[in-house]
Amino acid sequence: MLQLFQKKRMWRKSPLKRHYDVIIVGAGVHGLATAYYLGKLGITNVAVLDKGYIGGGASARSTAILRANYLTSQGIPFFRESLKLYGDLAQELDYNMLFTRSGRFDLGHTESAVFGLRMRSQFNQMHGVDSRLIGPDEIKKLIPVLDIRQGKHLPVMAALYHPPGGVIRHDAVVWGYARGADRMGTEIHPFTEVIGIKKNDNKIIGVETTHGFISAGSVVSATAGWSSTVAALADVNLPIVTHPLQAFVTEPLKPYIDATISSANLHVYAYQTDRGEVVIGGGVNHYPSYSQRSTLDMLETLSGHVLELLPALRDVNVMRQWAGLCDMTPDYAPIMGKVDGLDDFFISCGWGTWGFKAAPIAGKCMAEMIFTGRVPELIQPFSLSRFREGKLVNERASAPAGAIH
Ligand SMILES: Cc1cc2nc3c(=O)[nH]c(=O)nc-3n(C[C@H](O)[C@H](O)[C@H](O)COP(=O)(O)OP(=O)(O)OC[C@H]3O[C@@H](n4cnc5c(N)ncnc54)[C@H](O)[C@@H]3O)c2cc1C
Repeated sequence: MLQLFQKKRMWRKSPLKRHYDVIIVGAGVHGLATAYYLGKLGITNVAVLDKGYIGGGASARSTAILRANYLTSQGIPFFRESLKLYGDLAQELDYNMLFTRSGRFDLGHTESAVFGLRMRSQFNQMHGVDSRLIGPDEIKKLIPVLDIRQGKHLPVMAALYHPPGGVIRHDAVVWGYARGADRMGTEIHPFTEVIGIKKNDNKIIGVETTHGFISAGSVVSATAGWSSTVAALADVNLPIVTHPLQAFVTEPLKPYIDATISSANLHVYAYQTDRGEVVIGGGVNHYPSYSQRSTLDMLETLSGHVLELLPALRDVNVMRQWAGLCDMTPDYAPIMGKVDGLDDFFISCGWGTWGFKAAPIAGKCMAEMIFTGRVPELIQPFSLSRFREGKLVNERASAPAGAIH
């Protein structure tokens, strides 16, 4: 009788082998997407290892906003391609991901902010991304609940409107990629921590784990907030500082706002989920830390700021608050590729507060690079060597709700 109600496992439980062609450290959205696209290229003797449960890092804590309205000639095409892949992902993985394209509004409250948004809209259009600057009247028509009264200390003067932006269910993306990779033969091993990386001269030969040594043809680190600690196991120094990022949700309300709004001046963003909860987030904690505990001062700050935009939330209860780790780079752009001077060690990190939306294209490009040995053009600007060569990307539209100052 019990069997009748038991769901089929979404991925298998397999004994850990002593060798794989590729070991991916980190079963977040990036590690699993890379495994999935490797499988599509026929590379399936692959293990994805995680010290915790699948997607339990930043991926489980993401507010999963998707958009492509970036600023740089390197960032816009990259995120544009990711948004395209997200559009077809539910069908590709045969899994409902609750992707809602409700549109994204980046609000400008000062002359200089509006100048920056106008510049972004022009760069977006040059790269084929649907985004345009709109004024208060049109904003009010599209988001009636937004307080656009002039005369406040930060009035809404304009918005960068990006209709294809939206939100997706973060867990569903992680599970969909895990199931897709598993179906092609990839093994997923939660609760298997990598505690050492073994090298022979300049070649990586495998990883030491809490369940013993495993040899590998290639090792990929997709460990986001823990990237520096994992790279250090191979004596690689990354230009990454880990900061916590927090968010919270209100009790469910009837449909109230059908858009994602973000304000760089107020350091806050918000949207309503299909379940009715309003999700509210902002910028990273200003101090580096590996703590995944939320704080009262951030709840108070974000609440005060969101009420300036959505005053109707005044008497609404907060249900949950949480924090996750963000691997911040000095130029707000990711790092993808091989580590110079070290054979068969690949990294995908620097995903900061913006990495969920990048997973499909990053996973696809990482898989292609491991398979062909060549770096796909789309990710060439994001090499680790750019820091040595002085070719920083400066993607200031990565974290518009609050960069580190
Ligand atoms: C509150 C919050 C809101 C966010 N909102 C957005 C958003 O709206 N849009 C967006 O695009 N991005 C957002 N982000 C960022 C995004 O969630 C991350 O960039 C993305 O999920 C990173 O995915 P990942 O797979 O690289 O890392 P993770 O999901 O963190 O996975 C890394 C995994 O590595 C494992 N690991 C670490 N060390 C080891 C080890 N030694 N051995 C084995 N396993 C190890 C960890 O357990 C973890 O599961 C947000 C992040 C947070 C915290």
